[in-house]
Amino acid sequence: MPSADVFIQAGHEGRTSGATGATGPLGNEIEWTPIVADEATRILRSAGVSVIREDATLQGVYDVKVAIFIHFDGDNPSCRTGASVGYNDPTDKPAASEWKALYSNYWPFRWMSDNFTSNLSGYYGFSYTRTSDAEFVIELGEISCLEQAEWLQPRLKWLGSLIAHFLSKRIDKGNVPEPGPFSGGIITPTSWSTFYSGLELDGFSVPQKGLSNRTLLKALGVETEPFGEVIRHEDREFIKGKVSWFGGSKDRTMAPDETVALTGEVGRGLSEDDYYIAMRWDYLGRKLFWVNRHLLVVNPANNKAVIVRAIDWGPNTSTGRVLDLSKKTLDYLGVQTDDELICAFSNSSNGTRQVGPI
Ligand SMILES: [Zn+2]
Repeated sequence: MPSADVFIQAGHEGRTSGATGATGPLGNEIEWTPIVADEATRILRSAGVSVIREDATLQGVYDVKVAIFIHFDGDNPSCRTGASVGYNDPTDKPAASEWKALYSNYWPFRWMSDNFTSNLSGYYGFSYTRTSDAEFVIELGEISCLEQAEWLQPRLKWLGSLIAHFLSKRIDKGNVPEPGPFSGGIITPTSWSTFYSGLELDGFSVPQKGLSNRTLLKALGVETEPFGEVIRHEDREFIKGKVSWFGGSKDRTMAPDETVALTGEVGRGLSEDDYYIAMRWDYLGRKLFWVNRHLLVVNPANNKAVIVRAIDWGPNTSTGRVLDLSKKTLDYLGVQTDDELICAFSNSSNGTRQVGPI
């Protein structure tokens, strides 16, 4: 039986006859549910949450913690309904209510009562999922109502990010942040892509799990890098790992005059507004390549990205962390110590651009 953390179905997807979903003035349900489902799935997988992503055709039994079925409502005459949830068991209600509470912070139109149609309480998908927490139908709004459709249409990916946050929080895995109010699409998935330069550059590698590392051996007696998995995000390879921060006047772990390994700057003298990074580079005898080398660091959960400069070596492998960054970098990307970020080489350098958000 297929199993995963969560199950996400795009309602009606793939149907050519029968229940092909509601239609509306700005688009049809069958086109919109996959956009929401794909974005939620992408974000959750980037955050390490396993997802079974299905269309309308279900078979067998899916064994998950939470299962959701994404829909938009349709009505005739239009604009008599709104958002709603549906479930067939009282044990599903806490999760459904938590979703309603979250979405209510943003959804400006009406809510229908739970299970206001038999399609909601008797949804066919419920017989295919076996959940440890909950399974329920999400109706995101009435697609046939122009006023609601105008609100929904630009927010389809945003709705996916809100659902990803909800599911991540519900199962306590992945730490997907709440996206906050829709920003008009300012955060684009590919804003960082023009800087992406892979995991290998001029014969050097971004430190990653399984690479032998002479610098690591000399410093800590560890032969092979133990952390930093290679993952794919937006069709590109990155190293993923836990983060922490260092440097600046608030870093009490550094001695007042301690200098950083690559650039020789005094660690506690670093600006609070700077964007820099330490990783366990293999730099013995090849330090010049790494001094002020630019790297691209991305938060896959919100696609915010920064260019940082390599200035120091670390952290100790005993921390389990992979990336040590400036506090400013963590704050901008919206993460805290021991959250995860991804990184790769940037094609920029001190000669071509400043460090900071892109
Ligand atoms: Zn539907």
